[in-house]
Amino acid sequence: MNEKQNSSSADSLLNKDKNPSNIVPQKFTLDSTITFRCHPGVSCFTQCCGNITIILTPYDILRLRKRLQLDAVSFLHTYTEPTFLEKSDMPGVKIRLNDAHRCPFVREDGCTVYSDRPTACRYYPVGAANFHQGGQDNQAEEAFYFLIREPHCKGFQEDTTWTIRDWRKDQGVDLYDEMNKRWLELIMRRKSFTTQATLGESAKRMFFMASTDLDHFRSFVFESSFLEKYEVAPEILEAIKNDDIALLQFALKYLESALFGTEVLKMKQEVLKQKVAEIGRQGENSKENFEARAEAELNALKEERNKTRGV
Ligand code: SF4
Ligand code: SF4
Repeated sequence: MNEKQNSSSADSLLNKDKNPSNIVPQKFTLDSTITFRCHPGVSCFTQCCGNITIILTPYDILRLRKRLQLDAVSFLHTYTEPTFLEKSDMPGVKIRLNDAHRCPFVREDGCTVYSDRPTACRYYPVGAANFHQGGQDNQAEEAFYFLIREPHCKGFQEDTTWTIRDWRKDQGVDLYDEMNKRWLELIMRRKSFTTQATLGESAKRMFFMASTDLDHFRSFVFESSFLEKYEVAPEILEAIKNDDIALLQFALKYLESALFGTEVLKMKQEVLKQKVAEIGRQGENSKENFEARAEAELNALKEERNKTRGV
């Protein structure tokens, strides 16, 4: 049972409640080795699936709800509860534990969603940290790993030795990291803004919808005036009609563009001219103005979305 503690962008996001005394004070690289094995024969089997906080990434949600054959709303209502991400004002979800404070997916013989388990469950007992200052694309990342050694975990008494690289491969972490990257960057970037401006309610709702409920986000793209405002290449449009992973990556690009004013998603020229004139009226190109722009734009888009949903 590999569990639940991960760290990213210099702080822990995908982790259970952190007890620093369980972190081995040593930096690991991909070539460092650990001796660890988790299997049904360990005396602590599934102990680590209770009394935990497991934040779900958008990709975790997608994988789990496909596995359970649920739409996003049913999955969120049944298995999650809201939370804020990484001490920021960004809304997200965590797994809702049952009355016994256990993960709803654990049974005596192990994890019932093992091949689709969340990112945090894959990493444990390894944590990862990326120093990626402010989420800027052109800044170098320094990645390193660390080990979480909790007293109840007997996996360290086993005799299998791995490099961190092989451990990640065995746990399928690389794909999850790739899928989570843009979302994590958004949160870290937002975190660096938090002290200067609060994210408006509409922007928070849009962030939540686009990162947790792809069904609604798809309706928003195809049934509101979204496509009148943004330039979207025909092949991308075709892909996001049916492919949820393509849609997820597109949703995260949209959020980056709307919340931080980047050009990963381009506005149409005439809309852009209108926006530039609005920004000119609002004053200098400050962070607060990005917030104001995002807020105004999201309000307008939300109205459009509501129209399409008959709200
Ligand atoms: S998802 Fe699976 S591995 Fe993760 S806590 Fe739940 S039962 Fe354990
Ligand atoms: S060995 Fe560690 S990871 Fe495996 S079930 Fe026990 S506590 Fe969980």
